[in-house]
Amino acid sequence: RQQLYTEQDAQNKLPKAVAAKNRLRQINTEVKIEALVMDAQPANLESIVQTADLIIDATDNFDIRFILNDLSHKYEVPWIYGSCVGSYGTTYTVIPNVTPCLHCILKKVPVGGVTCETAGIISPAVQIVAAYQITEALKILVGDVEALRHTFLTFDVWNNQHAEFKTGKMKSYECSSCGSARTYPYLAYENQLKTEVLCGRETVQIRPSQQHLHNFDELEKRLKNQGKV
Ligand SMILES: [Zn+2]
Repeated sequence: RQQLYTEQDAQNKLPKAVAAKNRLRQINTEVKIEALVMDAQPANLESIVQTADLIIDATDNFDIRFILNDLSHKYEVPWIYGSCVGSYGTTYTVIPNVTPCLHCILKKVPVGGVTCETAGIISPAVQIVAAYQITEALKILVGDVEALRHTFLTFDVWNNQHAEFKTGKMKSYECSSCGSARTYPYLAYENQLKTEVLCGRETVQIRPSQQHLHNFDELEKRLKNQGKV
């Protein structure tokens, strides 16, 4: 279902950001693209979001989306949520200080349920979500806010279901991400997920509390008697 990447990119072990940049540059050499290969943590994302006109969610987990939601409100940058799994997709456009935020609507980071690890994703679900996101992005970037959708949209393209609901009354003035006494809880280190099972790779990513170079030989010695590796 990948359109940006080739088998050659995988064989070359190119980071996805770099491979995506290369492919997009092949389509249009005049587009300016900055590919950043890094972990999406608040400390890394803050400086990028501050100068952005818009955030388009192409992530694969809700922990990152709640971080994006807090950053969007902290720096007043609109963001367009999009997610899919199996044949199901959902998208919503968040305008800081105008619409309810993702935290208002979902209340907390969803846990459990199917993931791309267990259910996979079919290509049309991704393309439909992306088409809705990009249309909303164009409206924001040309300033046509009147045309924005203002609904939380979900669909299941396999089972021919489509639903959207209006969110206007879902804004919570006590919301800790967008309310009057906001604290941006998902930017606090203690609320961030420290480990992540990476989709389809039998790999667990561990996020340390601070960036430093690890001595893996030393680490192996220390962990040797702690369990099976
Ligand atoms: Zn909120």
